[in-house]
Amino acid sequence: MKQVLSYIKKNKKGYVEELKDYLRIPSISTLAENKKDIEKCANFVAGKLKDAGLNKVEIFKTDGHPIVYGEWLDAKDKPTVLIYGHYDVQPVDPIDEWTNHPFEPVVKKGKIYARGANDNKGQNLVHIKSVEAYLKTVGSLPVNVKFIIEGEEEIGSQNLGKFLKKNNKMLKCDSVLISDTSMYGDGIPTINYGLRGLCYMEVEVVGPNRDLHSGSFGGGVANPINELAKIITKLHDKNGKVSVPNFYKNAKKITPKEKANYKKLNFSDASLAKELNVGALQGEAGYSTLERLSGRPTLDCNGIVGGFIGQGAKTVLPSKASAKISMRLVPNQDPKEIAKEFTKHVLSLAPKSVKLNVTEMHGGLAFLMDLDNPTIEAAARATTRAFGKETVFTREGGSIPIVVEFANILKAPIVLMGLGLDTDDIHSPNEHFSLKNFELGILSSVYFLDEISK
Ligand SMILES: [Zn+2]
Repeated sequence: MKQVLSYIKKNKKGYVEELKDYLRIPSISTLAENKKDIEKCANFVAGKLKDAGLNKVEIFKTDGHPIVYGEWLDAKDKPTVLIYGHYDVQPVDPIDEWTNHPFEPVVKKGKIYARGANDNKGQNLVHIKSVEAYLKTVGSLPVNVKFIIEGEEEIGSQNLGKFLKKNNKMLKCDSVLISDTSMYGDGIPTINYGLRGLCYMEVEVVGPNRDLHSGSFGGGVANPINELAKIITKLHDKNGKVSVPNFYKNAKKITPKEKANYKKLNFSDASLAKELNVGALQGEAGYSTLERLSGRPTLDCNGIVGGFIGQGAKTVLPSKASAKISMRLVPNQDPKEIAKEFTKHVLSLAPKSVKLNVTEMHGGLAFLMDLDNPTIEAAARATTRAFGKETVFTREGGSIPIVVEFANILKAPIVLMGLGLDTDDIHSPNEHFSLKNFELGILSSVYFLDEISK
């Protein structure tokens, strides 16, 4: 271990230069004009994996962008860790708001600025360098390692699921390690162990067969906007609970151990309210804000359209109105079942005077790891060793569909070892990544491979 650590110390500066080279490739996955850059970036990653000393590296073509695979499997009778990351990045607009060119990385005050610095090039290079440090010093890894670095994460990982299914045997592993989430705060090592699922619906209320004059018809014909608003207000009760029948029936409850963990995070309602410039926070009765934000299912109207929305005034009783409604789900809630219950409920709320079209748009399952899972415990020990601080456990309110795919297809525990910060401006102008977290990330990875081998 000593050799590995001193090798990292010695090569630290070089790692930043390598990260810069990685960041100079404009691997924007959504733009056709960057297709060549995507290929160049896949080759760059494959080169890094080869240089690290992996004994098999291959670029797999897909119907979209290539997937880079690498493996080192010489640790007999030891577990196998699969490390996932993505080399593609988001577009850079609005480019005028960048203080440096997004593909000409600059280091300022200990942070590296470029598109992809955090999401996800910085966070996946960490693991390549950790593996390299072992192979260049002790000549072996404490466990078997497989890498998958894909090029379509920012466009929904369209071909990754197919790839996982098709190469199920090749990708067989005992745990999956992903660094693509955030730490709870700067300097606070964090293991994320849960993500919410999603059920996304659209409700259209249809009234008269054409827009009507609100003077001639208002008061005698149902107004779809009024009716839609009434339906929306009936979707929560006075305690902030979702009133769709059976909504909570299967929802996994927050355990006492989790409650204690949430408490440890010392979340301040007042500072969030201040940051958002709202008078107070609000949510389901009986739960803390952090619990509401990540451990409980929710329902929110995301958009609403109807009638005249131009400048000035037009007196109209519209023929239609619609709303987009999302429900964030927790484990054991099935998005399909929830969509059915929601549809039934909304239909029952509509008066005879209007027709309703309810459409299920998309959905996904939630993800949750058991806090007592030995892999999670090993990961927490590793980040604590690297950062010199107690590791905290968080659940995220959002969804990362590929995590659920990994869990379902590879059937292995998943570690979300986030090394970025919420303030790193990912997907925004001036994306950056702390070089300190980059370095401590390499150490976390080194320690994880060590801990998981025990
Ligand atoms: Zn992203």
